[in-house]
Amino acid sequence: MKKCDLCHKPDKVHYRVKSIIHKEWIFCCKECWNETSKQNNYSYGGTRKSR
Ligand SMILES: [Zn+2]
Repeated sequence: MKKCDLCHKPDKVHYRVKSIIHKEWIFCCKECWNETSKQNNYSYGGTRKSR
């Protein structure tokens, strides 16, 4: 499993996102995505699944 770029917890699914705080694309877990999706300039770039 890959790790979340924000909380570094391993998970199977990550969301590729950017925001005003994270100007480069990051991969984050669902929990962190909940937070990131509320930030300004949020954009969603897909979902990464690992086995
Ligand atoms: Zn996370």
